[in-house]
Amino acid sequence: MDYDVIIIGAGPGGIYAAYELTKEDRGMRVAVFEAGNELHERKCPIDGDRIKTCIGCERCSIMSGFGGAGAFSDGKYNITNDFGGTLYEYIGKEEAIRLMEYVDSINMSHGGEGTKLYTTANSTFKKICLQNKLQLLDASVRHLGTDINYVVLENLYDELKDRVEFRFRTPVKSLSLTDGGYRVVTDGGEYTCSKCVISVGRSGSKWMETVCEELGIETESNRVDIGVRVELPAVLFSHITDELYESKIVYRTEKFEDKVRTFCMNPKGSVVNENTNGIVTVNGHSYEDPEKQTDMTNFALLVSKHFSVPFKDSNGYGESIARLSNMLGGGVIVQRFGDLIRGRRTNYKRLSSSFVTPTLKAEPGDLSLVLPKRILDGIIEMIYALDRIAPGTANDDTLLYGVEVKFYNLEVKLDEHLETRHRGLYMIGDGSGVTHSLSHASASGVFVARDILKAM
Ligand SMILES: Cc1cc2nc3c(=O)[nH]c(=O)nc-3n(C[C@H](O)[C@H](O)[C@H](O)COP(=O)(O)OP(=O)(O)OC[C@H]3O[C@@H](n4cnc5c(N)ncnc54)[C@H](O)[C@@H]3O)c2cc1C
Repeated sequence: MDYDVIIIGAGPGGIYAAYELTKEDRGMRVAVFEAGNELHERKCPIDGDRIKTCIGCERCSIMSGFGGAGAFSDGKYNITNDFGGTLYEYIGKEEAIRLMEYVDSINMSHGGEGTKLYTTANSTFKKICLQNKLQLLDASVRHLGTDINYVVLENLYDELKDRVEFRFRTPVKSLSLTDGGYRVVTDGGEYTCSKCVISVGRSGSKWMETVCEELGIETESNRVDIGVRVELPAVLFSHITDELYESKIVYRTEKFEDKVRTFCMNPKGSVVNENTNGIVTVNGHSYEDPEKQTDMTNFALLVSKHFSVPFKDSNGYGESIARLSNMLGGGVIVQRFGDLIRGRRTNYKRLSSSFVTPTLKAEPGDLSLVLPKRILDGIIEMIYALDRIAPGTANDDTLLYGVEVKFYNLEVKLDEHLETRHRGLYMIGDGSGVTHSLSHASASGVFVARDILKAM
């Protein structure tokens, strides 16, 4: 065998698997194959000036490369079993939390020390939410910020590069079984290994589907989350974000009894484009460094949809809605809440006369032409519900960017070791459908690394 372990994908899942496998020198030969670039080479060409919107690079620097989709994220590591994945269903709740705390300790020893850990425990805010028909989910969240998250990744890479063989710009084309191991095929050659860990995230979802089909690994369709990103003056949410930083709040709509939830809250942050397989959607992040912060806060409002019979392509449904918004707006659309509820399009004139300035250059438009009524009604109801705990949320000038879509990978059939039906073939992180977050993906990497070490 060329390697003891080949890891496919250098996102948080792959990085923490590599870290744990080589933390102690046991002579393990570990290689990481990554489709994207090394951290310093990752540069999105959008400069807001010459290049304003996504030009569909061959390798999206936001989604791929060392650090994976999380490299330029807000670096919020949520330590909780309440959201971010279902890792606990495989390994137990206590173990899942222990591993997330362990990941946090590695982040702290690699540049994250001094960053704040927020918690919902004993928060009076929980009661206020309940009084207003909202539910605040329990979590501790470490906010590294985009800047410190980058530093942590730099430090991890510096440490790992001497222990692990990294092959960047090397997308794995196919994977097959060999005698006692696996053959990994790339454009630059073929490599064999005894154990293989696949951690290809959302950007590798299509490839994962092919691998599962070819190797006869069962999968189940997953959900898709559709909604908008809300942006408003930071001061309106400061009583919440100062105490909790990130709050996951769930609301059950009165009309359809659908659940709408807040997601990825970025106090004093910026709204950004996200490109998944050529479809431009919206996301957000914020910096730890006060100099880089804005005076706006953004967060997503999402509704989950899960299809089964006869149509079960939940991601395809989300993709179609995102494509529609891309068709109408050439990318992301922005609309003032006041225009949305008056049933009119936001145009440049209305946008420029509003009291808030968008942090993302998006095309003013009409989200009611894009989002299904049921989803849009839920979002509007949620905005009024949030207005009761953060007055001003339902102001006319509150900005809604659309669409935000959270694609989830197919859920792969795995056992309690996160191993497929083929011995020694593990699937972890967001690509496996088990996780949807930095902390869960990283924890799944540590978990399989320990399992492999035990077995070897
Ligand atoms: C803008 C943004 C902000 C976010 N903010 C947060 C946040 O604050 N908190 C949070 O918890 N989560 C956040 N997320 C989600 C988080 O980034 C992911 O949950 C996490 O990165 C998943 O880790 P992963 O290792 O499973 O996959 P990824 O991070 O997606 O990494 C997978 C890697 O595999 C590579 N790859 C794919 N296919 C192949 C192939 N065939 N061969 C070789 N390599 C391949 C990709 O290039 C990629 O680098 C954010 C995501 C985005 C896009």
